[in-house]
Amino acid sequence: MTAELIDGKAFAEGLRARIATAVPAFKAKTGRVPGLTVVLVGEDPASNVYVRSKGKATVAAGMESGEHRLPESTTQEELLALIHRLNKDDSVDGILVQLPLPRQIDEHAVLAAIDPDKDVDGFHVVNVGRLGVGERFLVPCTPLGSLMLLKDRLGDLSGMNAVVIGRSNIVGKPMAQLLLQESCTVTIAHSRTRNLPDVVRQADIVVAAVGRPEMVKGDWLKPGATVIDVGINRVPAETEGKTRIVGDVDTASAMSHVAAITPVPGGVGPMTIAVLLRNTLVAAHVRAGMAPPEGL
Ligand code: NDP
Repeated sequence: MTAELIDGKAFAEGLRARIATAVPAFKAKTGRVPGLTVVLVGEDPASNVYVRSKGKATVAAGMESGEHRLPESTTQEELLALIHRLNKDDSVDGILVQLPLPRQIDEHAVLAAIDPDKDVDGFHVVNVGRLGVGERFLVPCTPLGSLMLLKDRLGDLSGMNAVVIGRSNIVGKPMAQLLLQESCTVTIAHSRTRNLPDVVRQADIVVAAVGRPEMVKGDWLKPGATVIDVGINRVPAETEGKTRIVGDVDTASAMSHVAAITPVPGGVGPMTIAVLLRNTLVAAHVRAGMAPPEGL
């Protein structure tokens, strides 16, 4: 058996096109377009790239893109003051503070200050709670994007055994919540899990969100399983001085065991920004007292 590669790039393009189609309808009813504002503190090169891509994608979807770039030396009070201003600004539907933040700033305090109805990352405790009780409003982007890929491929997930490797607030935990809402039997594995390969071997669905290059081997996987590889790990390439990106799953050995797997890059990665736009559109609708468009 050779696994099918799940084309996250193509799915994300389709989702972005559906979002772009919904923007003019929103404008026709409200007289304005949805707006996403991204806040970047400091000069982290990877964060810079992410922020630029988010801005471009927002504009491409026909939405209003705002950007605030603050120096590395920004104090927590200055950042909180900006967030309070953005909370009050009616043209802003989504606020995203790019992580990580410089050491002098308390990440929890910043995330807690964002209006939960504008929290397009879905990290505010109110949105964590909403997800916990089964509401799907502003859900963390990477797990929701992963779920979309799974449902597109497998349809009804009900009754399937799902193993999520990783228990972060950003990926692992919300992923497990979403799979539970889909009536999967969910196991969350982490660094203290015993006999991880045996645990993973029970799974019809594996979501790997660990941050360890190619840790999950083909013989850990149940034949016919569907695998979502969230990992983004930079490793040395064969050419000296160069690097390449690999996932948390050893794709080469997994290909002969599983039915389908997301490649890295080109799998989950492109979904994250597409879902960010989805969240902005949903937030704009809810703030305007309108039902979000179907199927997002
Ligand atoms: P974290 O470092 O926050 O969490 C990693 C999790 O993996 C932890 O729960 C940890 O367990 C667990 N873990 C670590 N080592 C092992 C091990 N040997 N066996 C089993 N579990 C282990 O990472 P994130 O959740 O933020 O990200 C995970 C990966 O996903 C990273 O590669 C990241 O770059 C990528 N990512 C990709 C995104 C995308 O857009 N595609 C977006 C976000 C993240 P414990 O809790 O016990 O320490």
